[in-house]
Amino acid sequence: MFESMRVQLADELNELKQKGLYKSERVLAGPQQACIELADGRQVLNFCANNYLGLSDHPDILDAARESLDRWGYGLSSVRFICGTQEVHKMLEAKLSNFLGTEDTILYASCFDANGGVFAPLFDERDAIISDALNHASIIDGVRLCKASRLVYKHADMDDLERCLRESKDARWRVIATDGVFSMDGCIAPLSAICDLARRYDALVMVDDSHATGYVGRNGRGTAEYRDVLGRVDLITTTFGKALGGASGGCVSGRREIIDMLRQRSRPYLFSNTLAPPIAAATLRALDMLEESHHLRDKVVDNAIYFRHKMNRAGFDLLSGTTAIVAVMLYDEPLAVQMADRLLDEGIYVIGFTYPVVPRGQARIRVQLSAAHNREHIGRAVGSFIQVGIDLGVLKRHKHRKRTAATGEEGSGRAR
Ligand SMILES: *Cc1c(COP(=O)(O)O)cnc(C)c1O
Repeated sequence: MFESMRVQLADELNELKQKGLYKSERVLAGPQQACIELADGRQVLNFCANNYLGLSDHPDILDAARESLDRWGYGLSSVRFICGTQEVHKMLEAKLSNFLGTEDTILYASCFDANGGVFAPLFDERDAIISDALNHASIIDGVRLCKASRLVYKHADMDDLERCLRESKDARWRVIATDGVFSMDGCIAPLSAICDLARRYDALVMVDDSHATGYVGRNGRGTAEYRDVLGRVDLITTTFGKALGGASGGCVSGRREIIDMLRQRSRPYLFSNTLAPPIAAATLRALDMLEESHHLRDKVVDNAIYFRHKMNRAGFDLLSGTTAIVAVMLYDEPLAVQMADRLLDEGIYVIGFTYPVVPRGQARIRVQLSAAHNREHIGRAVGSFIQVGIDLGVLKRHKHRKRTAATGEEGSGRAR
């Protein structure tokens, strides 16, 4: 049996390689940090991790994880409702509720699981889920597992969202689902307008804040804080695998009865193992650190502002924004890949994103800033961008693009 399957799989894998869609993985020889060592011995500056607060190898986080091994053991060998709930899990849930300004929180092994398990227990064929077109794959999968009807609105387009709300007026319950920060362009969802529409049309709001929790908003509480709608979002899902230490784990946080129902019915919660105690303890420590000081949160934001400023001045075409995700637009697909490769040769690790990850003709290099970076790291990155940009004719081309835009001959050329 497998022989014919093997031939077919090998064909498909070859096809992926020929189309340039095959993903190979670079192996790191040490921890995640600003300067990483690759398995081939190269040292490179890392600008493609979600390590926004620089906690992935922070000594306080490592201490918290180590101490928890002695106090709570290695693992629970159980799901939560059988014998897998320790005080550290309840403490983390309470802390998250407090931090996010919600009534209750339920932990999952990942945010992918949280999104996979959040819809089906709450919504059925009488209901409608209204989803931003650029939402994360895990939201899309979660919606697929649920019998509610699905409506998709154009990315961040409030008129189109309103159309969906009108079209779903016969549904029992409606929920608007959106990423808080969109990972490919670093823009922040218009949550204030979304919450206003939700109130007007009597819908719930669900935000996946994975790329925001920990550093977006004045206290790092995320998009709801940034958009000044704390308390108006019914459901927040987020990850501990990005700003909050980068290991794994996630949660759903929100209204008490909703969380209680998820504990009864959410399948990834009921049938998957408890979050390991070192992760729960280290995530707790990360939240404590954020409450004690704004230092790391301010540092990643300052780094992002500094990088954006330097890159704009050099003449690069950036999607505007305020997050630590900076999209350097190249538009041309082979160029984006080539430029990222050249930057790696210069010791700057960034990734070029092309179709189908971003729309055709919108190829870009995504740069992610971290509190672990210092000014010298950022200066080196910008210097390499300029050098490679000149070599590949990018800077000249964009100066030209900007001139024509200024004379009104050309639109912004941007995604939005
Ligand atoms: C990273 C991410 C996830 C997945 O989080 P994990 O905890 O790694 O499963 C889900 N949603 C969004 C928007 C993300 O960016």
